[in-house]
Amino acid sequence: MIKKYDVIIIGAGPAGSSAAYLLANKGFKVVLIDKSKFPRDKLCAGGLSGRSKKVFEDIFGSPWDKEIIEYKSHGLAFYHKDKYLNKLDDYKPIHFIYRVDFDYYLAQKAEQAGADFVQGFDIAELDGQTNTVTGREGDQYQATYLIGADGVRSIVAKKLLSQPFDKNRYAIAMEAEIDRKDFARSVDVPEIYCGSIKWGYGWIFPKKDRLTVGIVGLYKYNPNIKKVFQDFLENDLGLSADIDMKGYYLPFGRYSKKPGKGSKLLVGDAAGLVDPVTGEGIAFAMQSGQFAAQSIIEAQNINDPESAYRFYKKKLKKITRTLSHANFVKHLIYPEFSMRLLVKGLASSRDKYSIKYYIDLLADDISYPQYIGRLIRKSGKRIFKLLVT
Ligand SMILES: Cc1cc2nc3c(=O)[nH]c(=O)nc-3n(C[C@H](O)[C@H](O)[C@H](O)COP(=O)(O)OP(=O)(O)OC[C@H]3O[C@@H](n4cnc5c(N)ncnc54)[C@H](O)[C@@H]3O)c2cc1C
Repeated sequence: MIKKYDVIIIGAGPAGSSAAYLLANKGFKVVLIDKSKFPRDKLCAGGLSGRSKKVFEDIFGSPWDKEIIEYKSHGLAFYHKDKYLNKLDDYKPIHFIYRVDFDYYLAQKAEQAGADFVQGFDIAELDGQTNTVTGREGDQYQATYLIGADGVRSIVAKKLLSQPFDKNRYAIAMEAEIDRKDFARSVDVPEIYCGSIKWGYGWIFPKKDRLTVGIVGLYKYNPNIKKVFQDFLENDLGLSADIDMKGYYLPFGRYSKKPGKGSKLLVGDAAGLVDPVTGEGIAFAMQSGQFAAQSIIEAQNINDPESAYRFYKKKLKKITRTLSHANFVKHLIYPEFSMRLLVKGLASSRDKYSIKYYIDLLADDISYPQYIGRLIRKSGKRIFKLLVT
């Protein structure tokens, strides 16, 4: 028998669960469908910026539970390969979670708000004319609206919007978890490693007992990502490369120019919403889920489901504007010449303002144009000196 809903949401990551929570709260009949059984893991460094915190509180109306936070730091450190550059450890907080906990926590919030959560669902067919989803067992769901929140390899984007996944447009990341005791020194703030990969960066993110070590870069420049990661572990971090590691793709600035059609909307990674400079995607996933929910509510208010995408596209500009700026800035930092300049600047910034501005940017307290403007005002003369030395 076909089960009827107002909204079908495919994918229960931060994007899908945020949308499900808001819509169910407003009385919509929502089904949240995921191929995995929860709690399930998702490859991610688990960094929650100040932007994520603000977006979370705006959606869920209260701060997140302390129990889901694994670690809280108050700064950031930069390295160039194995060389320390600079560090700030007394500024705005950055939080760290494990996605296995965080995503389950969000999905439970959606369920508590009244959404039906269908897990371990294997999609056999998607019908975009009627917004009908059919499972391998023959079970069917049909709704007025459909949200594709199924991540970077979205089948909703591919099957309903003819936007197939293309790894050459995206970034590839590799990650491993290590015990703190297996690392030579203590890590109290997230560490970013420049110069370890082409068009990308490496990281160590602190957790309570462990460290998440990873690397990300544009796939087209790093098709040999496993070797790049092994070199990073051995040469830059002094770790053994003989550890469990996993890889996955990130959209890295390549957002969809047409993230929907009529009553069908794409959110989060399915719409390509990851910042190519900071690597941040969770905040944009939750926020796009929020925008999708608001757009559906507006479309329903005027009894015109097909207008949902029009509302959504307009709201999404808040995110795509930021990602367009980030796409521009990535050309200022990732090429080798500018990377050298950046490294010199970071190493010599005595009052650590460049790290402060970066954390402000991560917190959405300043925009990219403001970030660049502040850097130029503060270090214009020094940039000139660096260019000529
Ligand atoms: C190595 C790595 C590190 C990262 N680190 C950070 C970080 O520190 N901070 C940050 O902000 N961002 C980070 N990101 C980016 C972040 O993980 C993503 O932007 C974010 O997960 C996007 O959320 P989402 O809800 O759109 O998709 P996802 O979290 O990918 O969720 C998609 C959901 O859809 C389900 N699904 C997929 N296909 C189907 C299907 N056919 N049927 C049903 N369900 C399906 C999946 O099971 C999954 O539950 C990182 C990414 C990577 C790869």
